[in-house]
Amino acid sequence: MKSFEDKINEINELSRSYNLKENQRICNRCKDILTSENNYDLKKCSCGYLSIDGGNESYLRILISE
Ligand SMILES: [Zn+2]
Repeated sequence: MKSFEDKINEINELSRSYNLKENQRICNRCKDILTSENNYDLKKCSCGYLSIDGGNESYLRILISE
């Protein structure tokens, strides 16, 4: 069973391999690329696993739902 931190690391590593920006992440399940433009811009991928929020204005928040 993977920890929450492992899942975040997987997403961060995959996103890095795609050369995504600091305010972007890719879902490792549906391969949707999400871009959060600002602090109130919550984006969710099409399979529902990954959400990001926070944009460039603060630290990027990464949310995972099984
Ligand atoms: Zn997804």
